[in-house]
Amino acid sequence: MRIGIVGGGQLGRMLAQAGAPLDLRFTFLDPGSEPCAAAHGEHLQADWQDPAALAALTANCDAITFEFENVPAEAVARLAEQRPAFPPAQALSTARDRWLEKSLFRELDIAVPPIARIDSQADLDAAVAEIGLPAVVKTRTLGYDGKGQKVMREPADVSGTFAELGGVPLILEGFIDFDHEISVIAVRARDGEIRHWPVVRNAHRQGILHCSVPQVAHPLQAQAEDYASRVMRELDYVGVMAFEFFVTDAGLLANEIAPRVHNSGHWSIEGAVTSQFENHVRAVAGLPLGETARLAPCAMLNVIGAFPERDAVLAVPGTRWHDYGKAPRPGRKIGHITVLAADDETLAERVAAVEALLVNDLG
Ligand code: AMP
Repeated sequence: MRIGIVGGGQLGRMLAQAGAPLDLRFTFLDPGSEPCAAAHGEHLQADWQDPAALAALTANCDAITFEFENVPAEAVARLAEQRPAFPPAQALSTARDRWLEKSLFRELDIAVPPIARIDSQADLDAAVAEIGLPAVVKTRTLGYDGKGQKVMREPADVSGTFAELGGVPLILEGFIDFDHEISVIAVRARDGEIRHWPVVRNAHRQGILHCSVPQVAHPLQAQAEDYASRVMRELDYVGVMAFEFFVTDAGLLANEIAPRVHNSGHWSIEGAVTSQFENHVRAVAGLPLGETARLAPCAMLNVIGAFPERDAVLAVPGTRWHDYGKAPRPGRKIGHITVLAADDETLAERVAAVEALLVNDLG
């Protein structure tokens, strides 16, 4: 069976690595000349919207999936007419627009921060008067890793902000004084079965994910699973979805979903019975899902902008190295390191040893 993946970055690369033992083959549609996934499959070099390339993808592949959400809706629709294509178009279009996304959460009775839809500076002024400061304003589409966002603390921060962010549609959110951030990775099969991995505690630096640690018996596991299941059922979702939350005294507040495998699930390659990548390709291929239990205490550290000394990292017991084969550039995710241990105390020591070696360049 051959699976077509729209996008050829590290997520596509790790999907192909996970599919290889199942003898699944992969074709990547990516406009780059040497996308890093191409080392593990065929590469169709073309724009995501190129009708001839989309036709070639469906002609060659038995099922189609996506490794990022900014795929034009028409392209998804064209693919889905020809072949099973997962997740469905509505999941992609909802996840790429922060207003549609949070509106869906509200409809499903999932708690969200106070929000307002902003189409002008006047809208912004009125919404700030209602929601109060501090508040965060974000572009509705195309934001990632904290880009396209501004935190407003004083009234002076509000004036001119609509133009400053490009005069594009925005969402205003009340600033949440959260305790920490978690995500839950979930997978839904073609037959509707849903499984969840243990929730992951995430730490960011300059808006970019730095470290993810799966938690067994987190008190909000059940609530996170319930919220993820509601969204997946509503969207008739197939594949892996990540759901990010703020943990507050009042429970979870939903931040965003990603309709794909997610950086906060990379630990599952070594740390779970079945990784997020394998379960995603299983779901897309129509195979039974695998167990999602954590195998051992573990953590994932991102390698951003520059590699640490590899041999020194490998010399720390319990470490696994992932080089995506991408050219280092400030702020670019070029690899990750998984750290495993038999107990939490040893894990903390090993993570500290690896962190001391990191030379990340966040840009
Ligand atoms: P996002 O791109 O929406 O995930 O935002 C990036 C990061 O900004 C989040 O991981 C949070 O650390 C922070 N952030 C986003 N929205 C809020 C909010 N409403 N209140 C407080 N912090 C936020």
